[in-house]
Amino acid sequence: MTYPKLEIHLPKLHHNAKMLVEMCRKKGIEIVAVTKVFLGDPEIARTLVEAGIPMLADSRISNIKKLKEIPVPKMMLRIPMLSEIEEVIEYADISINSEIEVMERISQTALKKGCQHQVILMIDLGDLREGIWEDEADEIIEKIIALRGIRLVGLGANFGCYGGVIPEKHTLEKLVEMKKRIEQRYGIQILYLSGGNSNSLHLIWENQMPEEINQLRLGEPIVLGKEDVYDKTIEGLYDDAFCLFGEIVEIKTKPSVPIGKRGVDAFGHIPQFVEKGMRKRAILALGRQDILLDGIKPKDANVTVLGASSDHLILDITDAQEAYRVGDIVELKMNYGALLAAMTSAYVAKEIIRQPDKKEKGKFQ
Ligand SMILES: *Cc1c(COP(=O)(O)O)cnc(C)c1O
Repeated sequence: MTYPKLEIHLPKLHHNAKMLVEMCRKKGIEIVAVTKVFLGDPEIARTLVEAGIPMLADSRISNIKKLKEIPVPKMMLRIPMLSEIEEVIEYADISINSEIEVMERISQTALKKGCQHQVILMIDLGDLREGIWEDEADEIIEKIIALRGIRLVGLGANFGCYGGVIPEKHTLEKLVEMKKRIEQRYGIQILYLSGGNSNSLHLIWENQMPEEINQLRLGEPIVLGKEDVYDKTIEGLYDDAFCLFGEIVEIKTKPSVPIGKRGVDAFGHIPQFVEKGMRKRAILALGRQDILLDGIKPKDANVTVLGASSDHLILDITDAQEAYRVGDIVELKMNYGALLAAMTSAYVAKEIIRQPDKKEKGKFQ
C-alpha cells in the first residue's frame, strides 16, 4: 500500500446524500450536489446520483467534463470565463452568472450551436463574492430576456464564502420578493430559487427557510457530514467518509523548543514554541504539499500536531494510548480545506471503498 493514502468510503457518501435528500425534500428543496472537493470524480458523483441527487455542480469545467456520462443536469458553479464558454455550453446545462457580457457571449454561442443554455442569475445579498446588486436587477433582466440563446431559469445567492455572512430568514426573503416581482413584471417563470450552500442548511433545522426556496447547492455536508454555522457533525451523517492515513518515518524524544539562533521557517513565518520539556515526537511522511496544516487533526485526540514543512508532518505522541513505532500508520481527520488539498495532491493515493465494512453492514440505507 502507498502512503499517504486517502480512503473514500462510497457507502457512507451514499448514506449522507440520501439522508440530506430526504431531509430537504420534506421542505420542498432539491439538492444540487457540489463535486469540486472531490475534483468531479465520476464514480463518487454517480454514487450520489444513485442516492437520489437530481443535479451535479462544479466550479471547474474540467471537472464537469468528467461527469459527462452521468445522466443528470450539470451546473457550472463559477461565472464562466469568456475563454471557456464553448465548453460550458457543451458540458453544462446550467451556469450561474452575473455579467451581461458573459451572458451575451453564451447566448451567441448557444444560438450558433442551435441550443439554449440555462442561467441562474446570482444576486449578492451581502457576502460580497459573486452576484448583481438589487438595483441593477431590472436593467440586467431586461437584457437577459432579450437574449434568445439563454433562458433565465433561476435566481441564486451565495453566503459564507468571502464575507462569512450567515443567511437569515429575512436575507432569503429578499430573493423570494425579487422572484415574485420579476415574474409579475416580465411575465416569466423563475423555476429555481437557489438559496445558497451549506451555510443555508441551518434555516431548515430552525424552521426559518422561506417556503419558496427550492434549491440548495451542497458540498461539505455530503462529504464531511457537517456545515460551518453550527460547526458540528449533522445528526445521522458520517463525518468519516474520507479518511487520511500517513506513515511514521521517525520517532524520537526531543526538546520542545529549538536550539540555536532562530529565523523564519520554510514558509516565511517566525514560529513560536512553548517550553514543555522533552517530548516524544513522530514524523509522518506527508506535508504541506498534501494537506492544509490548520485543517487536520489526528484521530487519536491524545496526539497533537506540532507543525509541518512541505513533506514532513511533526506530531507530539507523548500522550498517545498506542505505542507507535516507525512504519505504523496514523489516521488524520480533515476539514474541508484539508480534504480539498489532499484530493488535489498528486502525492496522496486515493483508495475507493465500495462495500461497507462487515461490522457496519446493515447500517447503510
Ligand atoms: C462551493 C460552492 C457551493 C458548495 O458549498 P458547501 O459549503 O460545500 O456546501 C455552493 N455554491 C457555490 C456557488 C459554490 O462555489
